[in-house]
Amino acid sequence: MPTTDFDAVVVGSGPNGLAAAITLQREGLSVLLVEAKSTIGGGMRTEEFTLPGFRHDVCSAIHPLAVGSPFFRSLPLHEFGLEFIVPPISAAHPLDGGSPGDSRVGLLVGDVEDTAESLGEDGDAYRRLFYPIVNGWPSLESEVLSPFHIPKNPLQLASFGFKALSSAATLSERFRTKEAKALLSGMAAHSMLALNHLGTSSIALVLMTIGHLYGWPLPKGGADSIADALGAYFEILGGRIETDRRITSLSQLPSAKAVLLDLTPRQLLALAPESWSGLYSRQLKNYQYGMGIFKVDWALDAPIPFDSVSCRSAGTIHIGGTFEEVAYAEAQTAKGKLSEKPFVLVAQQSLFDPTRAPEGKHTAWAYCHVPNGCTVDRTAVIENQIERFAPGFRERILARHTMDAMEMEAYNPNYVGGDIGGGSMKLSQLFTRPALRTSPYRTSAKGIYICSSATPPGGGVHGMCGYHAATRAIKDLFL
Ligand SMILES: Cc1cc2nc3c(=O)[nH]c(=O)nc-3n(C[C@H](O)[C@H](O)[C@H](O)COP(=O)(O)OP(=O)(O)OC[C@H]3O[C@@H](n4cnc5c(N)ncnc54)[C@H](O)[C@@H]3O)c2cc1C
Repeated sequence: MPTTDFDAVVVGSGPNGLAAAITLQREGLSVLLVEAKSTIGGGMRTEEFTLPGFRHDVCSAIHPLAVGSPFFRSLPLHEFGLEFIVPPISAAHPLDGGSPGDSRVGLLVGDVEDTAESLGEDGDAYRRLFYPIVNGWPSLESEVLSPFHIPKNPLQLASFGFKALSSAATLSERFRTKEAKALLSGMAAHSMLALNHLGTSSIALVLMTIGHLYGWPLPKGGADSIADALGAYFEILGGRIETDRRITSLSQLPSAKAVLLDLTPRQLLALAPESWSGLYSRQLKNYQYGMGIFKVDWALDAPIPFDSVSCRSAGTIHIGGTFEEVAYAEAQTAKGKLSEKPFVLVAQQSLFDPTRAPEGKHTAWAYCHVPNGCTVDRTAVIENQIERFAPGFRERILARHTMDAMEMEAYNPNYVGGDIGGGSMKLSQLFTRPALRTSPYRTSAKGIYICSSATPPGGGVHGMCGYHAATRAIKDLFL
């Protein structure tokens, strides 16, 4: 007679909850996945926010981390309908001052050589920086995308770490051109930290390396197709999913040997205050969340009319001008101030995926960083920044939908104060998130694990947090 209802219960069906559930189910365990919303997916959702037929990615849009994830690559997700589309240019970062049709722009395009060539006099500096990382990535990736551990390739990891742990400001000194420096600033700004912070180079190097190896793809149909494929695979393995089930106390869960929470520290504290030791509670309370975001989705009459031809062929556009301008905007946000010229991330999915909009029409997706918890409407400053590099953009808008940082949190409680990374990526909690323990995935309560992006390796759609947490639980409880 089984003594528990399930071997494991996973709360939350984001990429990490799904990855944890699949990892456990693949071991032959019986797994229940519960989700508060009516559909699974966490940050991988697509909705007709604006007008009928316009499909907007609510959260994640561009997925280098998904195709770069060794765990996702190990799954037969294409058999469950997942198809990635790779835009010809991964990312473009326009600068003021070019002539129309030939603007100055930093590009992440193709392999290292393609990008190096596009950077002109900074080509050799780019090659020196990226060839060792890109060539070494097959053995580096599992080291970089893991919790703190004794490395298998210490010299190689040390060489990567030396560059990755520096600030983007320091790394940018390798380059002379405004284009190369700006390109680096936009990549590093994904860290949602001021660019003089140690470690801000790491996210830039990882995103750019994966870009060279796999491109920066978008899933055909929308981000929800990643969730659908993961969910279908989990169910084929025998896993059970229950939606519309918001857990407010761990006592509501059926009995199980292991419970894995795809949640962040603030929710752990609310869900089971009596379960945690005093020390663990204090560590969870001290956990720091980062900047929030303000997001806009547009239904458009025609593509964004970027001056730069390259921007019109790029899946992602980083808008914010020079390295100095991006660094200033991010530093202001980090200080809790609003910037009138924020760094804006734009994705233009419908250019490459016609399923996203009615024929001849288009979608665009964008957000800028704001202080955590900010509720100020940033639509105008975001549109001003796009208009700066794409005059006439506003005339193409048919409808828009916005979400401020607190609306983001209301949509998904994991985005505390609008922080979409599950917690600040600053170096002091990068490896030990959410608490300094022998394994960051173990909580202080036996059998309860945390598997969200609040654990290493952090934010993004890659499932590696869930995979590592489930692997830990299997070793602790089921071997
Ligand atoms: C606007 C935006 C843009 C982004 N862009 C990108 C991008 O382009 N590329 C990329 O890789 N990443 C992107 N991200 C980040 C990415 O979406 C997240 O890092 C990722 O989804 C985190 O995964 P997770 O599994 O840890 O948590 P989540 O995806 O947040 O999933 C948590 C799940 O738990 C559920 N839940 C919460 N509380 C409860 C409860 N009490 N009971 C039951 N269920 C509960 C939630 O409903 C949710 O489904 C973006 C995020 C946002 C918001």
